[in-house]
Amino acid sequence: MEKKIYSDFTYESESFIHELFRKRKAAALTGAGISEESGISTFRGDNGIWKRYNPAIYANLPGLGFTLLVAPHKVINFITEVFDTLINAKPNPGHFALAELENQGILSSIITQNIDNLHQEVGSKRVIELHGNMFEFRCMKCNCKRKLSKGELASIMDELKNSRKSLFAIKKILIKCNCGGKMRPNAVLFGEVLDQTKISDAYKEINNNEVLLIIGTSGVVYPAAYLPWYAKEIGKTIIEINPDRSKFSEIANYFVKGKAGEVLPSVIEQIFGVTLMNDKEGCL
Ligand code: NAD
Ligand code: ZN
Repeated sequence: MEKKIYSDFTYESESFIHELFRKRKAAALTGAGISEESGISTFRGDNGIWKRYNPAIYANLPGLGFTLLVAPHKVINFITEVFDTLINAKPNPGHFALAELENQGILSSIITQNIDNLHQEVGSKRVIELHGNMFEFRCMKCNCKRKLSKGELASIMDELKNSRKSLFAIKKILIKCNCGGKMRPNAVLFGEVLDQTKISDAYKEINNNEVLLIIGTSGVVYPAAYLPWYAKEIGKTIIEINPDRSKFSEIANYFVKGKAGEVLPSVIEQIFGVTLMNDKEGCL
């Protein structure tokens, strides 16, 4: 297939939309970029939390553990900042558009690297969270899981902020399980192993669909970054939406240069002739 590159998305740049509509069966792979317009900074963006907190220290367990011993207030400040951002983030038109594509039977599933719960918040039903979810807590003893509301998490954050930010304050985020064990946020940190069931579900989604939509991921975090290469290998059509080129742009059949929150609602408008509405706030 001839490669099409849309450097400035307009309503006229429509052949990738025809392809999506004609083949219908699509899976999406999303990354931090789709939530950038919701106020959550991407990993490698120019500003944001990861420029202030080195991910080599703060995104892995040994780094966090060591810093907790020598400077507990830094870890507490990091944790409260991360959760405050996630609690305050609202889904953007890109999230709503993907939920609508699923409602309309075009999108089968979303494979996401995000841990922000925003796909579920807009009603996307089949979401494979490769890296877990910060609103879900997992018991380190019995492995059971429990999801917390934004309100519950906000109260924990208030307690942490008002604490003396000592080593012991960390107990507040390690909530108690019924079995007596401690529960931690169920997100995968650097160096931790991903849930193999989720990985194999993601590969099944690629197998069972004709199109892979890649939205807002730079393609440097593995094993998620293998998925587009596998899709290419088995002949699937790849459509990428990103304001900048990524590791996947060279293998994409269509590269749509633009923000997810602008391109995806336009896709809905082109296919269904409708403008997405948000019940509470009117037009998106
Ligand atoms: P990344 O930060 O490495 O790359 C972000 C990509 O999104 C870039 O290619 C960028 O050009 C693109 N982008 C920026 N704004 C965009 C927009 N408005 N629309 C579409 N694309 C946009 O992200 P990654 O590849 O997902 O890897 C980051 C890792 O860190 C992941 O493993 C993820 O778990 C984690 N993370 C998650 C969140 C979240 O849950 N929202 C946020 C930051 C990091
Ligand atoms: Zn337990």
